[in-house]
Amino acid sequence: MLLATAEESEVADDKLRVASEVLDTTSMYPPPLLALLSWAAGYYHHPIGEVLPLGLSPGERRGKPQRQLGEAGVALTERGRGLAPGAPHRAPQQARLVSLLEAGPLSLSELAAHGISRTVVKALIERELASPCEVHAEQDWRLRSAPLEPNSAQQNAINAISTAAGGFSVHLLYGVTGSGKTEVYLQSIAFCLTRGEQALILLPEIALTPQTLSRFESRFAAPVVTLHSGMGGAERDRAWAAARQGSAAIILGTRSAVFVPLKKLGLLIIDEEHDTAFVQQDGLRYSARDVAIKRGQLEQCPVVLGSATPSLESWHNAERGRYRRHTLPCRAGSGVLPRQQLIDVSGLELSAGLSRELVRRIDSTLQAGHQVMVFLNRRGFAAALMCHDCGWSSDCPDCDARMTLHKTPSGLHCHHCGRRAELPRQCPDCGSGRLVGAGLGTQQTEAFLQERFSTFPVIRVDSDNMTGREAMSQLVQRVLQGDPVLMIGTQMLSKGHHFPHVTLVAVVDADALLFSPDFRGEERLLQLLTQVSGRAGREATPGEVLIQTRHPQHPLIQQLEAPYDSALPLLLSQRSKAGLPPEGALAVIRCDSENRQEGMTFLSELKRSQIVDPDYQMIGPIPAAMARRKNRYRTQLVVAARGRAKLSTIVTSLVAVAESTRHSHRLKWFVDVDPYESL
Ligand code: ADP
Ligand code: ZN
Ligand code: ZN
Repeated sequence: MLLATAEESEVADDKLRVASEVLDTTSMYPPPLLALLSWAAGYYHHPIGEVLPLGLSPGERRGKPQRQLGEAGVALTERGRGLAPGAPHRAPQQARLVSLLEAGPLSLSELAAHGISRTVVKALIERELASPCEVHAEQDWRLRSAPLEPNSAQQNAINAISTAAGGFSVHLLYGVTGSGKTEVYLQSIAFCLTRGEQALILLPEIALTPQTLSRFESRFAAPVVTLHSGMGGAERDRAWAAARQGSAAIILGTRSAVFVPLKKLGLLIIDEEHDTAFVQQDGLRYSARDVAIKRGQLEQCPVVLGSATPSLESWHNAERGRYRRHTLPCRAGSGVLPRQQLIDVSGLELSAGLSRELVRRIDSTLQAGHQVMVFLNRRGFAAALMCHDCGWSSDCPDCDARMTLHKTPSGLHCHHCGRRAELPRQCPDCGSGRLVGAGLGTQQTEAFLQERFSTFPVIRVDSDNMTGREAMSQLVQRVLQGDPVLMIGTQMLSKGHHFPHVTLVAVVDADALLFSPDFRGEERLLQLLTQVSGRAGREATPGEVLIQTRHPQHPLIQQLEAPYDSALPLLLSQRSKAGLPPEGALAVIRCDSENRQEGMTFLSELKRSQIVDPDYQMIGPIPAAMARRKNRYRTQLVVAARGRAKLSTIVTSLVAVAESTRHSHRLKWFVDVDPYESL
C-alpha cells in the first residue's frame, strides 16, 4: 500500500521497495478514516502496516476489489403485501422476511445482514410472495414504531446530542440501569437519520445481547447492518460495502467496527463505555472507546458514551469539562432501584458458597413465582484440584496458574492457555485417592441449587455453555416467559439484559474482587456489583440484592448502598496520588520469551538507554502478574508520565532503541499504551 511519495529517503537502499504499478486511482479509505488509522498507529506506537488492514473488509485484505452495491434485491409482490400478519405460518424465517420487506425493497446484502439466508429469499420468490428487483444504494428509512414520550432528563440529553450534530462533542450519558439510555440513543439516531447521516453504535458484545438488536429493528425500518466476529467473510464484505457506500443507515458493531469506512458519519454511540470488551489485547492494542472519540473529532460528529457505571477516565473528563455529562437519575419505566443488603458470612457454614439466609431468600422468591439470579465470577466446578494428603495441586505445566476442575464434561482446564487434561483418579505425587476441589465455581453452585430446588429449572450462564447467539436467545426467550427460574452465572449475566421477572439478585462472593492486584480492581468491583444489582426488579415488583461478604466494613462494600458516582472522588484521588490513569499517563513495554532472563536483559537495556527526567518514571523491568503463560516468560517495563505528550516522546525513543537492539528471534516485544491488562 502506497501512503506517500518522496524524492529522497534516508532509508537504506536495500530496505526500499519499488512501486511497479498504480492499481487504484482513488484511495481505498475515505480521508477521515485514513487519518484515524494513521493517528492510531502513532498513538499506540504500532507499525502502520499492521494498522491499515483494520480499515479493510476481509476480502479487501486478501486483495479483492472493493464491492459495489446497488445490485440485486427483493420486493414484496401484490400477494406478499396482502398477507395477514405473521404469515406465512409455519415458516418463521419467511414470515420475518415478509415483515422486513413491508417497509420497502431490500438488497440481498441488507437481508444477509439481517440474518436472512438466500434459501429463504428463494422460497418466498417461488411462492410468488416476493420478486427480484434492483435496489439502489440510497439510504431510505422511516420509524417502524413510535418513540416513547421522553421524560425531562431524557429530553435534555436528546436535545443536547441532537443540537450538537455537525460538530465534535463528547456526551457522557450517565444513567442507572433501566433509566432509558437506549431510548435516548434511539431518538438521537432518528435525528441523525433525518440529516441523511449514518449512525455507528458500538456494543461490547452483540451475540450476548439479542434484545438490543431487536429494539433497533423494531424501532427503525431502515437498513441496519451488524458487524461482529461471528460473521463469515462474505457477509462481512457486504456489510462493509453497505457502510462505505452509505446505503447502511445504522451500523451496530463490536470494537473492531470502530474502523469501518462510512460515507457520512453523523453520530457515534458507545454503549456500556466502561466495558473492557472494548479493549483489544493483541496486535494493535487499542481501546475502541478512545479511538471512537478521536474518530468523532476527525469526522466532526457527536460521540455519546453511555453507562450506568462510567469508567474513571470518562468521569474524570466530564469533571474537567471536556465531556458534557447528562444524568438520568431514575428508572424510566415502572421499575424502582433495588434494595441492597449485605450478608456477613464470616464464620458461617456455607453450602456451595451459599449461606442459609441466602438459600432461604432464594426459596421464598421462587415460591412467590419470581425469578432469581445468582452471581459467581468463576466458571468450572472448582478453582483447582488438591490432594488432601500431600498438598499436590493441579498446576498447569505451561502457566503460573492452576488448572480448573470441570465436571460437565469432566476434566482439568487451564483458563489461561486452554490446556486440557483428564481428571486424575489418584494423586500423581503420592497416589492418594483423596483429591478435593478447592475454590468455588459455577458448576458446583449449580449442582447444589439443582438438588436443593429440584422443582425449579436451574440454568447456568457462563462461557462454557452459552456459546454464540442461539444459546443466549433461547435463554432470553425462556426467561422472558416469566415462570420462576433460577439462573447461576458469571459476569456474562451482568451484561445489559432486561429480565423483568427477576426480583432477587445474589452475589455469592464479593470478596473475590476486593483484593485484586490490578490497579483497576476496585473500579471493576464497583462496576460489576452495580451492574449485577441493576438486573433486579426492572419492572413492577421491587427487586432485592443480597451481597455475601466477609468484609462488610470495607469502605468499598459500604459504598455499594450509595449511588455509583459517590465512590468515584475517592478512587480518583487514590489514582492521582499514585500517578496512575486517568491523570497520569501509562504505557508498558511487554516482552515474552522462552526464558525469563532474556526479557529482563532486553528491557534493562531499553531502560538504561534513557536519560533521567523528573517528568516520567520507569518501573521495572519486572515479571508480569502472571509471569509464565503458554510456557513463555512475560516481563514488562512500565512507563508512567505526567502527561500524554511526554509519554509519547519517551515511548517513541524506547521503541527506536528496541528496534535497533539485537535480540534472539524467540523474544517478542510490543507496546501497550493505556494498558488494561493487570500490571
Ligand atoms: P437503559 O438502556 O438505561 O438500561 P432502557 O432504555 O432499556 O434503559 O429503558 C428501560 C425500560 O424503560 C425499558 O423497558 C423502556 O422501554 C422503558 N422506558 C425508557 N424510556 C421510557 C419513557 N420515556 N417512558 C416510559 N418508559 C420508558
Ligand atoms: Zn498427594
Ligand atoms: Zn495453562
